[in-house]
Amino acid sequence: MKLVLASKSTRRKQILEDNGYEVEVDISDVDERSVKIDDVKELVMHLAELKAKKVAKRNPDSVVLAADTMVYFEGKEIGQQETDKDAEDVMRKLMGQTHEVWSGICVMNTKTGKVLKAHEVSLVTLKQISDEALHEYIISGQYKGKAGAYNITDPEFENFMEGVEGSYTNIMGLPIEKVEPMLKEIGLKEGIDMPELVRSKIRTVPHWPKQGIMFRDITTLLKDREGYKHLMDLLVERYKDKDIDVVAGIESRGFITGAALAHRLGLGFVPIRKKGKLPHETVSEEYDLEYGKDAIEIHKDAVEPGMKVLLIDDLIATGGTAVAAANLIKKCGGEIVEASFIVDLPDLGGMKKLQQEGIRVHRLVEFEGD
Ligand code: AMP
Repeated sequence: MKLVLASKSTRRKQILEDNGYEVEVDISDVDERSVKIDDVKELVMHLAELKAKKVAKRNPDSVVLAADTMVYFEGKEIGQQETDKDAEDVMRKLMGQTHEVWSGICVMNTKTGKVLKAHEVSLVTLKQISDEALHEYIISGQYKGKAGAYNITDPEFENFMEGVEGSYTNIMGLPIEKVEPMLKEIGLKEGIDMPELVRSKIRTVPHWPKQGIMFRDITTLLKDREGYKHLMDLLVERYKDKDIDVVAGIESRGFITGAALAHRLGLGFVPIRKKGKLPHETVSEEYDLEYGKDAIEIHKDAVEPGMKVLLIDDLIATGGTAVAAANLIKKCGGEIVEASFIVDLPDLGGMKKLQQEGIRVHRLVEFEGD
């Protein structure tokens, strides 16, 4: 089931994507001024529900997520400021004080009709800063389009921050710690709609290559005509209109899907190999194994500076291999469009590790456990 975000906020979309969700955006055009509710908690929850309802009508078989965030100080909403003068007045009020950031959240499953609502509040304390620093901030125009006249993630705003109590992502517009369990409860499976055909054709070999490892064997998927085709169709569909110059695959199972995908996209293919296998000049990157170290390599001239690279492997576990492969591409001056895997083992944290390196990650299916 797809996740539809009823908001034009790029920050909300980013928060969801950073947490591994694939999101479609469908903007609701709710007139917020038409709603008159005094209690801020009731107000943000009501607005979130209105937005979700509007977008739900257009999206059957989906999970719709809507949110409304307000900066609140001394019993009043602090909205977006239009002029430098207004923004300065607002900042002067907030400096040296603690204000509240409220979010209302509404999620709807348009297949089952289930609706969940919640709210979150965080406390933000700002420092008293000098007139010059305030003036500099105002003339930079950073306040424009932002409730409360600031964006907590702006590096320029760091000087103002004294502290935050509660959810940080709430201040950015979406308290992800609260949203994730709601999405799960409403029926969005682990953030992805898993292609069951692909998942069902992957064989699990317990205790291979050693005791305790559940080996997710994709050879059973690859030998199956229908399964392999479906797998490749899904990947082609995802990448066919993306701006990609070359596909890089990680030895050795990343070659199977990576090379086939490159061919179908009409692109070239670059192998990332274990140390000592590539014949020409290489760039090398070491990474930690459970015991000891290993290294992978890429031909120095395989990726040119500025090239947009799609990175492919069969599976991501701890993420050690993929981070090393990403570093190789970066060393050559390439940009990683996305790192794409058939399988993710979320309990091993590899996907989060890559995301922390600023890399977009896509996976088709997940298996719990090691
Ligand atoms: P990691 O560096 O921990 O993310 O490991 C990823 C690499 O090891 C991939 O190239 C996988 O092919 C392989 N791998 C790790 N764990 C498994 C597993 N449980 N089943 C199949 N392959 C695995």
